[in-house]
Amino acid sequence: MRGSGLPIREGTPLLLTVSGLIDGRPWRAEPIDEREVRALARHLIAACFVVVAYLSGMRPGEVLSLERGCLRRDPDTGMLLISGRHWKGVRDDTGDHNPHGEVRPDPWVVTEPVAAAIDVLQSLHDESLLFPNRLGARADSAQRFRDGRSSTTGRVSRDLDALRDWVNHYCEATGRSDTIPIDPEQRSIQPRQFRRTLAWFIARKPRGIVAAAIQYGHLKVQMTVGYAGTYACGFPDELAFEELLARLDNLAEAHQRLTSGEHVSGPAAELYRDRVHNAQRFTGHVLATHRDARKLYTNPDLQIFPGVGMTCVFDPQRAACRFSRDDTDSRRTPDLSDCQPYCANIARTDGDIDVLREHVQRLAQLVDDPLAPEPRTQRDRHELRRLRTMVLDHDNGRTAPHD
Ligand code: SF4
Repeated sequence: MRGSGLPIREGTPLLLTVSGLIDGRPWRAEPIDEREVRALARHLIAACFVVVAYLSGMRPGEVLSLERGCLRRDPDTGMLLISGRHWKGVRDDTGDHNPHGEVRPDPWVVTEPVAAAIDVLQSLHDESLLFPNRLGARADSAQRFRDGRSSTTGRVSRDLDALRDWVNHYCEATGRSDTIPIDPEQRSIQPRQFRRTLAWFIARKPRGIVAAAIQYGHLKVQMTVGYAGTYACGFPDELAFEELLARLDNLAEAHQRLTSGEHVSGPAAELYRDRVHNAQRFTGHVLATHRDARKLYTNPDLQIFPGVGMTCVFDPQRAACRFSRDDTDSRRTPDLSDCQPYCANIARTDGDIDVLREHVQRLAQLVDDPLAPEPRTQRDRHELRRLRTMVLDHDNGRTAPHD
């Protein structure tokens, strides 16, 4: 045959059309070969794990125990809900930790990408667990699998590393720059990192939880403050910790800006300067207990919340918004989405004023639009005057003695 001169293709190509697209083009030109299937399927499962773990806030063990049929759409709200088991704080009749966990009373609220990942897993294999420890018959290996069990966090970690390496090889071979960087301090990806990453993003976005809803598109705020956000599931504590770290980062940056001559205006400007200055004493502070963390979290000097075009120097006694509190009333936070322009807690940094200047420019264009309805133009003119006054007051205040 080889001597016939006819071109011969090695392997057994699958009779499937490659339908996955990257930047609108098929991700590969060649058909998938039968010998590649098992490795690609494992990469696909690892990718599904990333989507589910990152966008749901579930713990790794909770993701790994998800079963076929766990996803449903609530007929009244249209929300996508996942039922699953949880273990934290679950005890049996004798008060001992129950190793089997229990079905969570509240489902997780998830987004369409999570639903798509679950659909992929359900069509990829016939196992009852979505992340099985085995994938199809494996006649070519003496390796034994524990049938009917889920994958383990160790196995998932190895699969995540393999997925990262595969993506990086693919990028290299196709000239792409969107590689997955390897963390020099922890080369191996740990499944628990995704939950923490989600909390990191939520905490560091302006307007916190509200921004989480924006960041994740149609993700419902309930994900962080409702179903997945009950204290029993622990996620708010992780979120609170990330919020605290984000707040310390913000304060360190604010201190740097102040010492470089940043001007601050507004009714709470003096208090802002004092708090930013005082907060520097927490640098290098060691938190040994939950009590330490809670005390630090509620320290008045750390109650500074950057908003859009303003900074809230939060004092609950003077707050003009409906601030929220946690179940023990010790963690009170302002509702920046309900910020009232006359509130005595408002300070404006140079950065905030830059945001207001942009807003002024946009409004100035809108009020010049001859086709705009008159009531709207009047509202915009009033807002424009208000913002211009703030910017002017800020700029004039630069000559004040504390600058
Ligand atoms: S109204 Fe605005 S400035 Fe006042 S406490 Fe609420 S968020 Fe902070």
